[in-house]
Order: sequence, then structure tokens, then C-alpha cells
Amino acid sequence: MLMQATAQAQEHCASYYAATANEKTNYPVLRGEQSADICVVGAGFTGIATALTLAERGYSVAVVEANRVGWGASGRNGGQMIGGISGEQKIQQRYGEAATNTLWDMHWRGNDIIRERVDKYGIDCDLKSGYIEVAVKRRHMVDLREQYHEYRARELPDEYRLLSREETRATVGTDAYVGGMINMRNGHLHPLNLCIGEARAAAALGVEIFEQSPVKDIRHGDKPRVLTAAGEVAADAVVIAGNAYHALERRHLSGLIFPAGSYIIATEPLSPEVAQSINPLNLAVSDLNNVLDYYRLSADGRLLFGGRCNYSGREPRSIKATILPRMLKIYPQLKDVRIDYEWGGKIGIVITRIPLLGRIHGNVYYCQGYSGHGVSASHVAGEIMADAVTGTLERFDLFANVHQWRIPLGQWFGNQIVAMGMLYYRLKDIL
Ligand SMILES: Cc1cc2nc3c(=O)[nH]c(=O)nc-3n(C[C@H](O)[C@H](O)[C@H](O)COP(=O)(O)OP(=O)(O)OC[C@H]3O[C@@H](n4cnc5c(N)ncnc54)[C@H](O)[C@@H]3O)c2cc1C
Repeated sequence: MLMQATAQAQEHCASYYAATANEKTNYPVLRGEQSADICVVGAGFTGIATALTLAERGYSVAVVEANRVGWGASGRNGGQMIGGISGEQKIQQRYGEAATNTLWDMHWRGNDIIRERVDKYGIDCDLKSGYIEVAVKRRHMVDLREQYHEYRARELPDEYRLLSREETRATVGTDAYVGGMINMRNGHLHPLNLCIGEARAAAALGVEIFEQSPVKDIRHGDKPRVLTAAGEVAADAVVIAGNAYHALERRHLSGLIFPAGSYIIATEPLSPEVAQSINPLNLAVSDLNNVLDYYRLSADGRLLFGGRCNYSGREPRSIKATILPRMLKIYPQLKDVRIDYEWGGKIGIVITRIPLLGRIHGNVYYCQGYSGHGVSASHVAGEIMADAVTGTLERFDLFANVHQWRIPLGQWFGNQIVAMGMLYYRLKDIL
């Protein structure tokens, strides 16, 4: 389920999303010699958002995907649309006041792009507004209050409010939290249907999408060439959007990003009374721990409960056995509910937590590593990459100029080192 994008192309994992996808995509395999202004590797949110933005601006684009549109994290995630880019505070510290407004705009831009596209292209992906961040301990409330005051200072136009322990209990139907903050600018959606819908919109604008076509190599030059077993694309620029699943450009990228597993279970559809009792406002819920739990109701009333990152690189023997106790700790009343789906995917962790945006030899770009927070961020990243390949580097440089730590021999030891780091964060959560 967590397999690497290998030479052997794969179909979607057995998730709730794959079972309820609006369509089964069937774009052709890349064969023979093709050309485009820009070639994108990977058809997740990053790749499709980049391609769609470029197509809207009139560029010719080819997208080469190893498996299927949305096969990676983009088609498997918790569906929580949360504004912000991981590592924002560190970027702010590095650039100071000069970056404040740009960062604030980028913080919400991903959500806005998603809403605009769902609307403009009529994408049916169960998009709902509403999110609550819940505090497991008192010190989490300090962070939430700080956030709340920033929203006030900046006059965030959407509804947001801090909740007491009692109000939180009434909002999420559990006594597990000491408080929370609702934010209606965030929300949730069916991620695979969003990705498939965006790909369809891109294809309608002329983007050539190729599926079941793992990229084996990229040949550098004035016109870099993207090579698969049966074909190639020559382009003015290439964007690598394979996130935690690709092993391209190892000399430049190994040791910079580490794949970590995140896992989700989906219950059977709950009765309307039970659904109403645990989430009457139909919010996406996320706790504030470093190794966090996240959950929400699906459009057909299932509880989709996710969490428990695995930084060892090994998939648990049973996803259900790993996640169910977490869910029952929050909702013991669901102990007799059936679990219909269990699945996992890879997120790309970066040591600094700042996404890795950069370029190699001037015309091969990469964009990856949202550290588990990428539904919204990948959409603004797609816009930043579309800007960058066409010569506007302002926002791209905010990321590309950050010094990123590389773990020597990371391809062999990286995950173990990150696992030790995460043990530290887990201990912090517990204490
Ligand atoms: C279980 C889980 C839950 C998550 N929950 C949330 C959430 O609720 N909210 C949130 O904001 N974020 C969440 N995330 C993170 C979010 O899903 C990711 O950050 C985001 O989807 C990354 O998108 P991407 O397009 O960069 O990468 P991916 O979606 O992983 O796409 C990469 C694509 O590249 C392709 N590829 C790789 N190598 C090659 C190659 N050599 N040739 C061709 N194609 C290749 C892959 O097949 C894949 O389709 C979650 C992630 C997981 C795994």
C-alpha cells in the first residue's frame, strides 16, 4: 500500500476514496517522442495544480504520472483543507518583516485556489467549510489564543472563534479536549475527486496527461528530456512533483526529504443521530499534538479517522489495529461500529519543515515536502511553480534560498534519524 512509485505501475490503494471516485481515469501511457513548454512529473495536487495554472495561462504542458492521477498522498489523505504552509514561522524569522504580508497571503491562497477551481470547473468533491483545532492540553490553548489574536489583528473576514472546554465538548462530542478554535475559512473535501476533477479541467485546457508511465530519468540540457520505458517528453522546463514517492535526481535530492507513513480508517456510515452527536457542525477536526489525530465525517456519514505517523518507513502489520484504539479513546461509544476501509500513504518530511522548492541546472525544478500538511499548500505551491518556470521567482526564492539540512547517507539512515527526532516530539506530546 505504501509502495514506492516503481517501474511497475499500480492502481489506487483500496481506500474509501478509490471506492467512491467519480471516475476511473484512463489517460494514455506515454509512447514515442513528445514535446511541451513544460513537463511535470507526478499527477498529485502539486503536479496537477502546476499544470492547470500553466494551462490557464496558455502554456502547453505534459504531465507524466507513474500510476494514476491522485495515486499518491493526494488521493489518500484526510481531506482536511487547512490554510498555511509548514515551517511558516521559520521563513518569517529568516526574512523578517519584509515577508510578513506575502506569507499571510500565501497562508490562505491554497484554500482560495481550491474553492475557485471547484466553483469554476464544477468539481464534485464534497467541499465543506469548517474546521476545528482542538487542544489536548492547556499549553495548546496558548498557541490557539496567539493565532486568534493574529486573525483579529489582520481582520480575517471569515468566522473564527475560541471555544471553552464545554463548548468544545458540545462541538466534537467528546471530553478529550480542554478547548479549541473553529475556523470557517478551512474545511474538508474528498481529495481524490478533487484531484481527478482538476486533472479533467487541465486536460480540457489541452494538458496532455500520461498515466502508468513511471519516469526513469531526466536528461539535462537546454531542453531537458523526461524519459520513461516507452517514450520521452522534451520541454523548456521540467517540474518534479513526485513528493515522497520519487527517487529522481538522487545526487541533488537524497537525504533532504523522508517518507513517513500516515494511516486512516473509515467506519461504516453512522446513523444520522450518532453523526450529529459527535460532529453536529460537520467540521474537520485536528488536535494540536506533534504526532496528531485528525478526523472528519465523509459525505455519506462515515467517520474517517487518521493519525499515528510512522517514521520508521515500515508499514504497520494492521492499520486498523494501530488506529482504532486512538479512535476509541476519543469516541468509546463507537466500539461496535464496523471498520470498512483502512489505508495509508506517504508524506514527505523535511527536517526544517519548510517545503523543498528549488532547481537543478537552471531548468529542472522540484517542489515537495509539505511535512504532512499539503492539501492547501500544494495548491499555492503549484501556482508558485507555474510562476517560477515562467520567470517570476519572488515567492519561489523565499523557499529556494532557505538552507535545508541534508542527512549524509540519508537514503540509508534518514528514516531512522527522523524516527529518533519524532520520538522526541512524541515525548513532548506525552509530557
Ligand atoms: C494518509 C495521509 C493523510 C494526510 N492528510 C492530510 C490532510 O488531511 N490535510 C493536509 O493538508 N495534508 C494531508 N496529507 C498530506 C498531503 O496529502 C500531501 O502533502 C499532498 O497530497 C502532496 O501532494 P503531492 O502532489 O506533492 O504528492 P503526491 O500526492 O504524493 O503525488 C506524487 C505523485 O508523483 C508520482 N510519481 C512519483 N515518482 C514518479 C516517477 N518517477 N514518475 C512519474 N510519477 C511519479 C506518484 O505516483 C504520485 O502520484 C496527508 C497525507 C497522507 C499520506
